[in-house]
Amino acid sequence: MTTRPNILWFRNDLRLFDNPALTAATQDAAPLICVYILETRHTDRDLGGARKWWLHKSLIALQTSIEARGGRLVLRRGDAADILVELANDTGAAGIFWNRRYDKAGRSIDAQIKTDLSNNELAVSSYSANVLVEPWRLTTGSGSYYKVFTPYWKALQKTYSPPSELPAPDILTPLEPVASDPLVAWNLHPRNPDWSIGFDDHWQPGEAGAHDRLDAFLNGPLATYQDSRNRPDISDSTSGLSPHLAFGEISPAHIWRRVQDLITSNQTSHDDAMVFLSEICWRDFAYVLLFHNPELTQKNYNPAFDLMGWRSSDRDLMKWQTGQTGYPIVDAGMRQLWETGWMHNRVRMIVASFLTKHLLIDWRHGEDWFWDTLVDADTASNSAGWQWTAGSGADAAPYFRVFNPITQGEKFDETGAYVRKWCPELRGLPKKSLHSPWTADAATLKRAGVILGQTYPRPMIEHKTGRQRALDAYSKMKEIRDAQ
Ligand SMILES: Cc1cc2nc3c(=O)[nH]c(=O)nc-3n(C[C@H](O)[C@H](O)[C@H](O)COP(=O)(O)OP(=O)(O)OC[C@H]3O[C@@H](n4cnc5c(N)ncnc54)[C@H](O)[C@@H]3O)c2cc1C
Repeated sequence: MTTRPNILWFRNDLRLFDNPALTAATQDAAPLICVYILETRHTDRDLGGARKWWLHKSLIALQTSIEARGGRLVLRRGDAADILVELANDTGAAGIFWNRRYDKAGRSIDAQIKTDLSNNELAVSSYSANVLVEPWRLTTGSGSYYKVFTPYWKALQKTYSPPSELPAPDILTPLEPVASDPLVAWNLHPRNPDWSIGFDDHWQPGEAGAHDRLDAFLNGPLATYQDSRNRPDISDSTSGLSPHLAFGEISPAHIWRRVQDLITSNQTSHDDAMVFLSEICWRDFAYVLLFHNPELTQKNYNPAFDLMGWRSSDRDLMKWQTGQTGYPIVDAGMRQLWETGWMHNRVRMIVASFLTKHLLIDWRHGEDWFWDTLVDADTASNSAGWQWTAGSGADAAPYFRVFNPITQGEKFDETGAYVRKWCPELRGLPKKSLHSPWTADAATLKRAGVILGQTYPRPMIEHKTGRQRALDAYSKMKEIRDAQ
């Protein structure tokens, strides 16, 4: 009698190392069907363009690693439940294995598949792989989920110790023949135009790229992370691991183990390392918020914000999207995003504050733009980040904290290298007026070759005016809420 195969369903865990579902599926040396499904039904939202680019490359990398071990990656597009039933029936599979996901649409698909497919003939098993701690595990003294980050971080440090690492299997035995789509037929990579040219210079999607990035970060920038993480003008001041984590090319548990090893062997400063691990925990915390508030991508966490008098202006939104606001730090960020699919965290906060406060445009428009343009776009971190900045989120920045784009630029892009890189038309301006070109005198502008309103826009709204308008809108919102 031939051994019945197992099915491993890859989702946002495109890795072979430290992959619990893969380890479990290969335990009994049965043939393995590795499948990736481009899910077309039941998903809340299409993949954004930048993520599609990454996915294309990451699947090629995964395919290559699987083939190097003798296996094969089956690609299918459609409804995951239908595809898995068909695969299981056609191959007589004994088990289906996957790592868990935490968004609303994903969870309901997975629950349905588990109910429909689990029976005596077929076992469906799921594992924790993509967060440090699953979002329902840690609760406060009163039994509710944590709504504030710092106590969550403290609780996690007290209870978490990473599981032992799981080696990648040496050999994968495929079951031939199983039909597979050609990857190119999925049209994930942009064509006509191919706007991704700049992306290749910045990223190496796939598991090997993730580990290279982690090594480079641990061997250098980690040592000064605490101070330099807020400085977009210092290149590689942060790890750049976010897209690798978003696609599950590396596990947070592995990052934790590597950093802990450095701390234990005194090879890095304890404080810098712990600040870095706390950022990894912010990612977990975003999943906690999403898990307990499945509508976080669409609904204000704080319902008072349903009464907010947002402005509607396609023209203003487009100026923001294209980096033409007239505020150099904002424009630099939006252009970095467009060209590389990524933006520095400090600048994400500045541009998000500018959109929701100075322009008084609903955070959902910004979240949507980020969703389409970020290679690391993540349901939990993106909506939590936007709601936090807009003031409508859990543990949010208070609404009255309106980032001043001039002083933020001067403080965090202290050398000006960031603005000079992404807004080259301002390169000739001295530091003093780099973040506020309209304050430069005529001779300075002339020397720098800047003609305001022509080579670089004037500010679309004056800072004080924008700030006051936001504060007024907030007071009005509170007034209406209190009167209800
Ligand atoms: C408006 C807004 C939108 C955001 N959207 C996303 C998103 O879609 N996807 C995403 O991964 N991050 C998002 N972030 C969080 C953060 O900006 C990025 O995770 C970070 O910039 C990624 O760069 P890095 O890998 O070099 O980070 P590092 O500083 O090296 O941090 C290491 C890892 O910790 C995690 N992390 C760090 N900061 C945060 C944070 N504030 N929230 C959650 N996780 C964090 C990331 O996984 C990151 O890779 C958003 C933040 C804001 C303010």
